[in-house]
Amino acid sequence: MKEENPRRVGIMGGTFDPIHYGHLVAAEAARAAFGLSEVLFVPNRLPPHKKDYPVSDPKHRYLMTVLATITNPFFEVSRIELDREGYSYTIDTLRALSAQFGPAVELYFISGADAIAEILTWKDVDELLGLCYFIAVTRPGYKLSVKLGHLQQKYSHKVFTVEVPALAISSTDIRKRVMEGTPLKYLLPEAVENYIIKNKLYR
Ligand code: ATP
Ligand code: MG
Repeated sequence: MKEENPRRVGIMGGTFDPIHYGHLVAAEAARAAFGLSEVLFVPNRLPPHKKDYPVSDPKHRYLMTVLATITNPFFEVSRIELDREGYSYTIDTLRALSAQFGPAVELYFISGADAIAEILTWKDVDELLGLCYFIAVTRPGYKLSVKLGHLQQKYSHKVFTVEVPALAISSTDIRKRVMEGTPLKYLLPEAVENYIIKNKLYR
C-alpha cells in the first residue's frame, strides 16, 4: 500500500560549470513548493549534449557544487554520475536512484525551462516519467512550455511547473565574464568565485 505522505527527494542534474545562483534558487524554490526532504545535486561526468566546448574537469565541478550547497541543510551532492564511466544519461541515474531509494520515496527531477523541453523529447521519456516526477522551473529567455505530446493524457500529473524569481544567470555567461575580466560578484556564491580564481578556471 502506498504511504499517505511519502518522502520526496529532489534531483537537480547539471554540468555546473560553474554552479550559480540560478541553480540554487531553482532547487530551493522546487524544494519549498513540493515539500522535498532534500535535493540531490548531481553533477554530470560527460554531458551528451555539450560536445561543443571542453567541459571542466569533473573534480572542479564537483567541488564547486559542494562549496555552493554547503550552507543549505537540505542540499546534498551526489557523485553517482561522476563515478560512472562514459556519457551521463539521466535515465541511467534515475534507474539507479530509484532502485537505491526504493518504492517508498518519490523522486522529483528539477530542471529549467530549456532543459525540460529537451528532456521530454528523449526516446526514453516514457520510462523516465515512470520513474520520477518532473518540476520545470522558469528561466529568463526560455518559454516554459511543457509539451508531453501523446503522453499528455497519461503523464500530465507527473510534470509540474514552478515560477522562480527571474535570474538571467548562466554558466556560459559566467565563463565569458571570467575570460573578459568582468565582475562575477552576486552571480554565484563567493566561495565558488574564489575557487574559480584560485584554480584559474575558464581562462
Ligand atoms: P550552460 O550555460 O553551460 O549550459 P547553465 O547555466 O545552463 O550552463 P546547466 O548546468 O546547463 O547550467 O543547467 C543545469 C540545470 O539548471 C538545467 O536544468 C537548467 O535549465 C537549470 N538552470 C540553469 N540556470 C538557470 C536559471 N538561471 N534559472 C533557472 N534554471 C536554471
Ligand atoms: Mg545549460
